[in-house]
Amino acid sequence: MKLLVVEDEAKAAAYLRKGLTEEGYQVEVAHNGVDGLHMASVHDYDLIVLDWMLPGIDGLALLAALRQTRAVPVLMLTARGQIDDRVRGLQGGADDYLVKPFAFSELVARIQVLLRRASGARTVAETTQFKVADLEVDTVRRKAMRAGQRLDLSPKEFSLLALLLRRQGHVLSRTEIAEQVWDMNFDSETNVVEVAIRRLRAKLDQPFERPLLHTVRGMGYVLEDRAP
Ligand code: CA
Repeated sequence: MKLLVVEDEAKAAAYLRKGLTEEGYQVEVAHNGVDGLHMASVHDYDLIVLDWMLPGIDGLALLAALRQTRAVPVLMLTARGQIDDRVRGLQGGADDYLVKPFAFSELVARIQVLLRRASGARTVAETTQFKVADLEVDTVRRKAMRAGQRLDLSPKEFSLLALLLRRQGHVLSRTEIAEQVWDMNFDSETNVVEVAIRRLRAKLDQPFERPLLHTVRGMGYVLEDRAP
């Protein structure tokens, strides 16, 4: 998933880039409205995080110009909390807004909601809490527990687990996993999926009695409870 962050304040932009990259997104940053509008018009982003107060073209003007050609989800950041401004932002074509200062987890949760909404895959994709046997996962809070113990997963391991959960009981091929989790065209030379599966398995299954993640030879991987 590729995000564009339009934020003129260097510190805030660096913080957003770092945090969102750690969440597993590809992040590009524009430091003013003119660059932001240009990048958003030329490239395909899955979502744009747009600061309202920008030099040159402000966020609202950028949004108005962008909306003539692009339907990309836009989350506006604003230091102004007044109702009027929120209404103007939403009428101007923003999909959601967040008032500064905000908690980073809140930003991530809202980005996830917008991305899910945009993906069109409504029902299952909008589920954010999963329970399989003694495994419990909350994808908004990015929390995975098994038998009451928190699993310490990397962002990619978590994304992989979330994908397997959303498609519970269905075998996912390596290609499909690579495309969905790494957002890349699968190169058969790479073993990135196998490595990630191995790491996930070491945390998800090895310490526990019953495995949930299964290999289907020649096909891929499936997450399911195969309790007798
Ligand atoms: Ca600003």
